[in-house]
Amino acid sequence: MKKIYGNQQLIDTLERMASSGRTAHSLIICGDRGSGRKLIARYYARALMCESPVNGKPCGVCSVCRNIDKDIHPDVIFPKKTGKLGNYSVETAREVIADAYIKPNNSSGCKVYIFADCRNVDDRTQNTLLKLIEEPPEYAYFIFTCGSKSEFLSTIISRCVCFTTSPCTEEEAAEALAESGFGQQEIRSAVNCFHGNIGMCESYINDEELRKRVDLTKSLADSIIRKDEYALSVGLFSAGRERDDVRETLSMLDMLARDAAVLAKDGNAETIGCFREGAVALSGSLTAYQAAKLHSCIETAWKAVGRNVSIPLALTALGAEIMEIVG
Ligand SMILES: [Zn+2]
Repeated sequence: MKKIYGNQQLIDTLERMASSGRTAHSLIICGDRGSGRKLIARYYARALMCESPVNGKPCGVCSVCRNIDKDIHPDVIFPKKTGKLGNYSVETAREVIADAYIKPNNSSGCKVYIFADCRNVDDRTQNTLLKLIEEPPEYAYFIFTCGSKSEFLSTIISRCVCFTTSPCTEEEAAEALAESGFGQQEIRSAVNCFHGNIGMCESYINDEELRKRVDLTKSLADSIIRKDEYALSVGLFSAGRERDDVRETLSMLDMLARDAAVLAKDGNAETIGCFREGAVALSGSLTAYQAAKLHSCIETAWKAVGRNVSIPLALTALGAEIMEIVG
């Protein structure tokens, strides 16, 4: 069973709910990707359904706990994303509604739906789900994980208990990675890039594509520092064609710009991005105001790529804007 590092307060609250029987039927768990949102969602499902919990703490060894952890429990359901942008759609909502009125077939009498990584869920889909969330069957629970609460309509938010994951320390991340059996050297380089974000550290070690995107982010930063418009545009276009890939690269570049803005004011400030040396160099070549503008235009492009905007168009505009800011 995977141990959850950090987020103790959040876990305590979930356990208190489970042990008191005053459980929230709808939860929103916000936080960065890799910060343990899904792990915590599963934990709540375990707390609700475990065969022998102690004070709301799931045992972690019964077949229910183990099956939930392996994502094979028939009553812990991950609805499918059937929308065009790889998001949840009205079809998803309809399927969930139809399924939610079928009683669960397990001793705990619960059914839990985990909508992982909600992004760009359109209003129609949310409104379709709203009725179910407003008056759920007594056995049904809904957990939404997302980057930010602002993904949802206020009507949905008002029906949910909202939590935000907090980052772990680098020490905790290193400990978690060591426990997963990774070597010291790979742990060091992963923590160097992704700090206390255990999920992203794991991906960095396991996923060659992510390592490539980190390298790309570093070379983009380098092009910005050298004010090399051509290299910047070639780099941006090599970020790929998949929205998620492009967004991930932009998000890392954005953190770097944010770090540069912070470092421009305080050279000893802590950084959150994957390339401190680059952020330091960038902060040396930009004013804090320029770095802040850089951050905001990258963020705008990141949002545009998440919507139905043409990726080449968004990247071309971004390249031009960046050169205008740094030039
Ligand atoms: Zn259990």
